[in-house]
Amino acid sequence: MMSLEELRRDLIEKGYGERLLTNEPLARHTSFAIGGPSDLFISVRTKAEFVEVAQMAWGRNVPVLLLGGGTNVLVADAGLRGITIVNECRGYRLGEDGLLLAESGVWLAEVARWTVQQGWAGLEWAVGIPGTLGGAVVGNAGAYGGCMADVVRRVTLLQPNRDPEEMDAEQLDYSYRMSALKQENWRARRRIVLEAAIQLTPGDPEELARKTENVSTQRRLRTPVGCCAGSIFKRTMQYPAGFLIEQAGLKGRRIGGAEVSPKHANFLMNTGGATAADVKALIDLVQKTVWASFAQRLEPEIELVGEWA
Ligand SMILES: Cc1cc2nc3c(=O)[nH]c(=O)nc-3n(C[C@H](O)[C@H](O)[C@H](O)COP(=O)(O)OP(=O)(O)OC[C@H]3O[C@@H](n4cnc5c(N)ncnc54)[C@H](O)[C@@H]3O)c2cc1C
Repeated sequence: MMSLEELRRDLIEKGYGERLLTNEPLARHTSFAIGGPSDLFISVRTKAEFVEVAQMAWGRNVPVLLLGGGTNVLVADAGLRGITIVNECRGYRLGEDGLLLAESGVWLAEVARWTVQQGWAGLEWAVGIPGTLGGAVVGNAGAYGGCMADVVRRVTLLQPNRDPEEMDAEQLDYSYRMSALKQENWRARRRIVLEAAIQLTPGDPEELARKTENVSTQRRLRTPVGCCAGSIFKRTMQYPAGFLIEQAGLKGRRIGGAEVSPKHANFLMNTGGATAADVKALIDLVQKTVWASFAQRLEPEIELVGEWA
């Protein structure tokens, strides 16, 4: 049986009291700026804290929602009956062989830009992607012809009642915006990425700078500004999701405070005061309309987390 109160006491006893929040609105921690309260909420700053807090929560059978940047999730209006752990472990180092060893709370865009500046190729495509390395490893984030599957060599995983263990990238079973970790429902997921080893290759600094500038410019032109979670749907076998949504005449369609972006149809925006229910209703409407128009099934890229009815 889950025991939230016992977990709260355990955490206070271990000295986490000052950082432990109750009923923290998750809207403050997601790029959608949407999400109800989490019963318990804590951020972890070192690997040791991460391991300790996660093991305590698992030991008390309390549902754990792990958040990196919160840029690829839609949190329910009812929030979470459990604990939200926010990953702020942000250490990294680059070996002479181009192997980047990074904690999973590192900002992907930041580390990408830094490695490029050091003259290493491999993460140029990632310079504008918000969120953490951990979220990117789980979701096989990618853009402009690159993705995590191309560069991840191994990860360090934490599981209940075990010391952290290394796993080779092959075992992550990567495919388009998918991994063996993402395949597990967030509530049942018992594997946390603590660190990742990323293999980079030597590059020409000027050429790399040109590439990243190009990626940044493309992103600025194409990406809507505002509260959202990036692309809502995966591309289908034949078409980009945004193309299908636009062709179905849905650009600008609104439900409550949620809107299909007039700039890029695969982005649903919180225009102010949108609820998770508004966004979910708009997702359903888009899927239904695209299916009725083109017999194409749109699969969400984002994850719905928390207490959905
Ligand atoms: C404006 C905008 C543009 C975007 N552009 C792109 C793009 O070009 N390409 C792209 O692929 N994505 C894009 N995204 C989506 C998002 O930024 C990426 O998917 C990112 O990698 C998610 O990282 P995160 O830390 O925010 O993950 P979160 O949203 O915090 O988490 C996502 C999932 O991963 C799990 N998770 C997070 N960290 C860990 C960990 N350490 N161990 C185990 N599980 C973990 C969470 O529990 C959750 O289930 C965009 C989003 C926005 C808002």
